[in-house]
Amino acid sequence: MADTAQPASVVIVGAGQAGYETAASLRELGYPGRITLIGAEDTLPYERPPLSKEYLKGEAHFGDEQLWLRPVTYYPRQSIDLVSGTVRAIDRITRTVHLADGSRYEYGHLVLATGARARTLDVPGAGLRGVHTLRTAQDAAALRAALAAARRAVVVGAGFIGLEFAAVARESGCEVTVVEALDRPLARVKCSARTAEHVTRLHRRAGTRLLFGQGLAALHGNLRSALTAVELADGSRLPADLALIGVGVIPNTELAAEAGLAVSNGITVDSRLLTDDPCISAIGDCAAFPQVRSGNRLRLESVQNAVGHARLVAERLTGMPRAYDELPWFWSDQFATTVQIAGLDEGHDTELVLGDDPDAFSVLLFRGEELQAVESVNRPADHLAARRLLDRGIGLTPDEAGTPGFTLKGHLAGRREGSAVPAG
Ligand SMILES: Cc1cc2nc3c(=O)[nH]c(=O)nc-3n(C[C@H](O)[C@H](O)[C@H](O)COP(=O)(O)OP(=O)(O)OC[C@H]3O[C@@H](n4cnc5c(N)ncnc54)[C@H](O)[C@@H]3O)c2cc1C
Repeated sequence: MADTAQPASVVIVGAGQAGYETAASLRELGYPGRITLIGAEDTLPYERPPLSKEYLKGEAHFGDEQLWLRPVTYYPRQSIDLVSGTVRAIDRITRTVHLADGSRYEYGHLVLATGARARTLDVPGAGLRGVHTLRTAQDAAALRAALAAARRAVVVGAGFIGLEFAAVARESGCEVTVVEALDRPLARVKCSARTAEHVTRLHRRAGTRLLFGQGLAALHGNLRSALTAVELADGSRLPADLALIGVGVIPNTELAAEAGLAVSNGITVDSRLLTDDPCISAIGDCAAFPQVRSGNRLRLESVQNAVGHARLVAERLTGMPRAYDELPWFWSDQFATTVQIAGLDEGHDTELVLGDDPDAFSVLLFRGEELQAVESVNRPADHLAARRLLDRGIGLTPDEAGTPGFTLKGHLAGRREGSAVPAG
């Protein structure tokens, strides 16, 4: 089958953000064939970002249609067959997926949207009650219940999820310590030093302890196997009744690897998000794709990426193939602060800061004469302008950004209104 021909049926493995969006986009584009959406979590497809934000604070709930991507009635109305189950094997010869319960589905085209799972740490005490990870609705429900009773929380890993949880835990009155092996927060996602400093200040101002350059050695519990303390690599112990391990994710690639598809930190796909089998695509958190702009192979973990990938595959399957070249963007909420990132920093040599309010600024990251990414802290208008600018490939040099009167919005409109100063 040529990859541009419309298949008679599409089976999607993984009913998360990317899987749901593929099914919905196929129908929006008028795809008339059979769509089967198979998910291992026994729920309707839902959004994950609120799990570490509104849901954890008790401001959003499942069951009242706030967190579901669509109500239960949507799927039969759109003739999307939503199946609860785990796909155990792919038979590429017969084009069939086999589920753990023995059922099977034939596909014309298969979309792997298997996402990722939380990474755990192999340390003594990792299985104690009170030790959590946060990826699924089930994880979030357990964490929310534990937080309601917790007095002292330790967060291992100062990435976005760890820090979002730390903020909610602190606001709920918990004593919070964040332990990070590297020397600053958000290092894995390559945030600039300026944004990292601001985020550190934000948490310290709220009374949270942040310990950098510290590894986890062990978790200790009492006779009832409940967590009582977190031991660090230097031998010190932090009393704790709750620990969140927020040390990143592992892409779910085993199914693809066992089917003989290429895998390397994600399921390997080309610029059309096709695997080395023209009848199988891979999208979202589980897919490692080539970035058209840089040629680098990327695996991103964001809603934008999951939705963008899904739409591209739906377009390809309905006869509109193209290469994936969408601008990555991301957001995180911590306390009353929103951090938004447009673009991808693949190594910058110049940082310029827009705005003189220490709690509301944007950091412009340049490599040579080229703008790579913009991090905006409480500056949503900058974020939107940066997205448009980067997306449209409108050039911006450090000299231009340093001109008195410069603003991103003004530059976009061909004007100048504020000024950017070197970070430091
Ligand atoms: C707590 C939290 C907060 C986040 N906050 C943000 C944010 O603020 N902004 C942002 O942009 N992104 C955020 N993200 C990331 C974003 O949610 C993910 O990038 C996005 O959900 C990825 O979608 P996906 O469909 O690729 O994978 P997932 O959402 O992981 O979905 C994959 C699904 O596939 C299922 N599956 C796997 N294997 C099988 C199998 N063999 N058979 C059947 N089903 C299978 C899994 O059970 C899962 O339900 C957050 C993530 C988390 C966990």
